[in-house]
Amino acid sequence: MKDYYSILGISRNATELEIKKAYRRLARKHHPDSTENDSNDEEAFKEISTAYEVLTDPQKRSLYDSGVDPLSQNGGGAGPFGSDFANMFSDIFGGFSFNSGFGNQGERNTTHIKGEDLLVREKITLEESIFGAEKTLQLSLLVVCKTCSGLGAKGGIQEVSCSVCQGAGSVRKVANSLFGQIVQTATCPNCHGAGSILKNPCADCRGHGAVKGHKKIKVKLPVGCTDGSHVRLHGEGNAGRKGGKHGDLILEISVREHDVFMLSGSDLNCKLSIPVTLAILGGSVEVNTLDGKATVDIQLGSSSGTIVKLPGYGMPKSIESSTRGDLLVFLDVNIPTKLDSKQVKLVEQLRDSLKDNKFKPELESIKVGGFWDWIKRIF
Ligand SMILES: [Zn+2]
Ligand SMILES: [Zn+2]
Repeated sequence: MKDYYSILGISRNATELEIKKAYRRLARKHHPDSTENDSNDEEAFKEISTAYEVLTDPQKRSLYDSGVDPLSQNGGGAGPFGSDFANMFSDIFGGFSFNSGFGNQGERNTTHIKGEDLLVREKITLEESIFGAEKTLQLSLLVVCKTCSGLGAKGGIQEVSCSVCQGAGSVRKVANSLFGQIVQTATCPNCHGAGSILKNPCADCRGHGAVKGHKKIKVKLPVGCTDGSHVRLHGEGNAGRKGGKHGDLILEISVREHDVFMLSGSDLNCKLSIPVTLAILGGSVEVNTLDGKATVDIQLGSSSGTIVKLPGYGMPKSIESSTRGDLLVFLDVNIPTKLDSKQVKLVEQLRDSLKDNKFKPELESIKVGGFWDWIKRIF
């Protein structure tokens, strides 16, 4: 029979509080998930837990003190992580999720838990993307519990060791399978890995310090938010717990497709249909852009696919940038499909005047002339 007093490093007349203190100190040191644990000593952890189980149970302690092994009474030294313990757990907490093996057991810090970041997808128009916008958002998130001011307990935080995991923060479960017994470790469902629980948890938030709620906030989106960009608003996310800071609000921006203007890098593309005479003679026309009225100068002899550039009418080059890309206007020359006899005569006169009746057809590469640039831009 092992000396449980020396395992915990306490005297034979140690009080219950002293036993608990010693246990918590050692459990932290030897728990396989502990950062203080360098030996990875699962056996030592089991031994400490067994000693704790025996010495904190008055009946078992007096049996032990009288020289009888109290654990042999119920089937032989299975310790707190034996199958009885495991069964009790699966009965009470059947269905709670297990981590695979030791490690990765989450937040163990019991104070100042920072709130999680909140990701919200926000659809904006192309205009809002270019000029920025002020949005009012209605958020569903965790807010500070008003009853306990986020502390999780009324009248200050008082913690006691978790009775389910004895302060270890994790529990083990033995499951029977075809391949024999499988031991799994899980975050303690009672204290969620903290090892301690609040003495007087707040009834409204059940000790979390935060409750589900809503928040309406005004957000100023900077110019140049493109599709897929993220805007982080510090401290506007989920409320922290037990005095912890709020998480951040992260807006994931998606930009709605515009009916007219198509984004390509920091440039905008659009099409302008013009009559054939304007294409031949050239001239200026006024159009509506996202920046209001603008003049498109059409060179004499423009053909379909000719690009007229309006510098600075595009997208900001980057977020919060005052430098903008261009608006590229693709000319599309409208050739009339129906002419009356008078118009036919006029065009024939033009043809003869331009000596187009002597036109010699010859095939050439698609890469010759502006047509190729046009194809490249489209695809
Ligand atoms: Zn626990
Ligand atoms: Zn509360």
